[in-house]
Amino acid sequence: MSINKKVRVRFAPSPTGGLHLGGVRTVLFNYLFARKYNGDFVLRIEDTDQSRYVEGAEQYITDCLKWCGLNPDEGPEKGGPFAPYRQSERKHSYRQYAEQLVQSGYAYYAFDTTEELEEQRRLTPNFRYGHENRKVLRNSLNLSSSEVENLLAKKIPHVIRIKMPSNETISFNDMIRGIVSFDTNLVDDKVLLKADGMPTYHLAVVVDDYLMKISHAFRGEEWLPSAPVHILLWEYLGWKAEMPEWVHLPLILKPDGNGKLSKRDGDRLGFPVYAMNWKDPQTGSVIKGFREMGYLPEAFVNMLALLGWNDGTEQEIFSLDELIEKFTIERINKAGAKFDFEKAKWFNHEYIKKADAASLNTGIRDTLSEKEITITDNKYLDKVIELVRNRLTFLQDFWEHAYFFFEQPKEYDLNAVKPKWNEPKTEFFQTLCDNLFELNNWDNEEVETKFKALSERKGIKLGELLLPFRVMLVGGKFGPGVFDIAATLGKEETIIRIKKALNIFND
Ligand code: GLU
Repeated sequence: MSINKKVRVRFAPSPTGGLHLGGVRTVLFNYLFARKYNGDFVLRIEDTDQSRYVEGAEQYITDCLKWCGLNPDEGPEKGGPFAPYRQSERKHSYRQYAEQLVQSGYAYYAFDTTEELEEQRRLTPNFRYGHENRKVLRNSLNLSSSEVENLLAKKIPHVIRIKMPSNETISFNDMIRGIVSFDTNLVDDKVLLKADGMPTYHLAVVVDDYLMKISHAFRGEEWLPSAPVHILLWEYLGWKAEMPEWVHLPLILKPDGNGKLSKRDGDRLGFPVYAMNWKDPQTGSVIKGFREMGYLPEAFVNMLALLGWNDGTEQEIFSLDELIEKFTIERINKAGAKFDFEKAKWFNHEYIKKADAASLNTGIRDTLSEKEITITDNKYLDKVIELVRNRLTFLQDFWEHAYFFFEQPKEYDLNAVKPKWNEPKTEFFQTLCDNLFELNNWDNEEVETKFKALSERKGIKLGELLLPFRVMLVGGKFGPGVFDIAATLGKEETIIRIKKALNIFND
């Protein structure tokens, strides 16, 4: 694909709550595209609908982008040449364009009161303010110009609506879908400027994409029905030549493919649909996030990239740099992408396996501090991480797989040991303690060599001894390689555990 203009893309969320997987994927595709073509990635907060504004949502969005490592080049926090990046702070810039549309006959003032519109809705099922009825409603298309002036002078509350043409087809090229067409008769006369002087999303998105010189507009497929209104606004405002390319991203579907994945599906099916925990400021209820579940941000980003995109091969694990290199709009699917939580888990597992222990260390500490466990010896923690990482799907799983490295067994699986326990075995472990005590180099090979030599000398099969040894060290039939466990626990602790267990086994 050849790109012949300066790439400027934007993520334009409304701060109405937590960030859904689909939102983060839109961020990611914007980001990859911007990085690939040396463009700019803009974060613009679309907060013109004051009734839907939710405290804390903007901060949450910024934090999410940080956590994912997908930081914008321009935005409310970072600033930039097109500031401000919050639409509420750009309020003054929209009215002139709405007025311009009225002057040129593409929009009109509508003075209908809420009560009048409610009455219309009551009388007409599926009422739509548009070409069929605009002639009988209270607007500047029907009122005389002196009446209109009078109402405006008296500051009678009014909105500005787009005048959708009738019997026309609006067609445009979507970079994923190709030519998309809409019948204008099916689109209502959307409000562009509200009675409080705030623009609606439709006006603001077009004005800001224009003023901010956006070259490509990536957004979810759910915005496709709004596109005809936007296309017309670009045309009516005289900006058609500068209109961005449209890229409507496929939906993320429920695991069974039946409909869009919603935040309620997460609760229902037991997996997160938000990037990070989102606490509703009104109800206090928390919707679970991937971050708090112990998902690594790199794995999250990789998993999201594959929801609706692939590079045409079987490859599934991509670093961010690789994604930037390989990402193309041509390889984004039209069809919705089913979200598969098992697959999402697999990604995280793969990333935990290959991450360096030091980078896992911080995340694991966080999960431990939630459990009020403090680990002071960082090096020791690193060693344990190295031993159990292959078993983890989430960082949260760490404790379950590793607690015995930090505390002595409280219980022992005696059923696994007792039936075959005897005096020679007791003697073996007593002597083993002495032999291990003499070791100067404490590592798994040395321990194993001593252990095996003694088993041969005592004439007891190795297989008979390994299980009791394991139970002595961890309490049961689980954990990594038993010599690795001993090597990590250290000489003193290993001997203490053997002696303690001997007392219990012989009780
Ligand atoms: N403000 C819209 C949203 O909340 C943005 C849609 C668009 O990118 O045009 O998702």
